[in-house]
Amino acid sequence: MTFEKIPYKIYLTEDELPKFWYNVRADMKTKPAPLLNPATGEPMTFEDLRPVFCDELIRQELDNDTREIPIPQDIRDFYKMYRPAPLVRAYCLEEKLQTPAKIYYKFEGNNTSGSHKLNSAIAQAFYAKHQGLKGVTTETGAGQWGTALSMACSYLDLDCQVYMVKVSYEQKPFRREVMKVYGASVTPSPSETTAVGRAILKEHPGTTGSLGCAISEAVEAAASQPGYRYVLGSVLNQVLLHQSIIGLEAKAALDKYSIVPDIIIGCAGGGSNLGGLISPFMGEKLRGERDYQFIAVEPASCPSFTRGRFAYDFCDTGKVCPLAKMYTLGSNFIPSANHAGGLRYHGMSPVLSELYHQGLMEARAVEQTKVFEAAEQFARVEGILPAPESSHAIRVAIDEAMKCKETGEEKTILFGLTGTGYFDMVAYEKFHNGQMTDYIPTDAELEASFAQLPKVPGQE
Ligand SMILES: *Cc1c(COP(=O)(O)O)cnc(C)c1O
Repeated sequence: MTFEKIPYKIYLTEDELPKFWYNVRADMKTKPAPLLNPATGEPMTFEDLRPVFCDELIRQELDNDTREIPIPQDIRDFYKMYRPAPLVRAYCLEEKLQTPAKIYYKFEGNNTSGSHKLNSAIAQAFYAKHQGLKGVTTETGAGQWGTALSMACSYLDLDCQVYMVKVSYEQKPFRREVMKVYGASVTPSPSETTAVGRAILKEHPGTTGSLGCAISEAVEAAASQPGYRYVLGSVLNQVLLHQSIIGLEAKAALDKYSIVPDIIIGCAGGGSNLGGLISPFMGEKLRGERDYQFIAVEPASCPSFTRGRFAYDFCDTGKVCPLAKMYTLGSNFIPSANHAGGLRYHGMSPVLSELYHQGLMEARAVEQTKVFEAAEQFARVEGILPAPESSHAIRVAIDEAMKCKETGEEKTILFGLTGTGYFDMVAYEKFHNGQMTDYIPTDAELEASFAQLPKVPGQE
């Protein structure tokens, strides 16, 4: 084995597709803080969550103890259309960089939605269908999550209602129309169709919307229609659980060749791909079996980990969702309009927030022009046009590989390549035209946002 050259792509067979999702919370000594009911300050119970989420997904959300959760056969069958996803050895990038580092990436862009989000979309749609529901509601920013969910819903014959951030709805027609191909109804948010949308429009006429605002509308739409529930594409514990398929497959592929990564890198928006990629490796670290360096990469314009507060906050601008304890910039924080690289969410997964708080993971903030430089460098040698979000991870993978070049260390680097960037060409265009700038929020701006964090008993 050891003398065999590692192939460019390590594939698993269909049979090797994981049969369980791995729940990293089971191995955490300090569990992530529970979601709180904003009205009472008490942890949200199963019954509290039932009007909003599907029953089985609530069980997964609240389950901090079951290490392995079986993947239902129907979901595995759907996964087989686009999984197992390849683990790629970036020989061409290594050659170009002249680095002694060995670089691997797990590619999640091999489906129409173009990202890893389909892994959780199909799971959430399946449990909704299983419960006999009519449909689901959700929000989407640039449209990756909405596209993934509309694909999953059309497959299962479920209604799919998507609230799309207005500026994206208007400026990004392609994903909007893909969602319609899959039969979803797409409403620009804020809209007149919900009370919270009408209130936001009244307070901020002409607003182009935000993810937090679209979440509020989607939650209200679910709660006010019988047979509907709300689903979310990131941040929640259940989403990290479903995304553990990324890490489980990556680990199985590496194990085939006895490869052990030193550094594992992922971009972090709400934390789902990163959480999914690192979960099985973090499990080994938590159990004291092996050590790894984990790096979360976020935009300097939306720096939740590196400059946020670890506090209870609302998940949405409309303040209708439960409170989550997480690294947050404040639910009113809106990144600069010039920011084109995605990963715009103000908060972060409570699981990753707790792991980061315990010092088990690092985080870096990178400027978007540097991200697009890395994206192009990668595209030119590796044959994949990366999503801007994914390119945050590429940036730090290249930085780490260049450090190895200086020190001569032969580190093994694994990063998550979450998706493709074909629908993000306006962002690439800005980069080419020199219209892209690196706006970094000032301390004063962040302080103003932190001042509006909710007051929760027991929190200063
Ligand atoms: C949504 C998305 C992300 C960020 O979401 P996480 O929940 O942080 O993983 C990253 N890359 C792509 C391609 C996405 O679509």
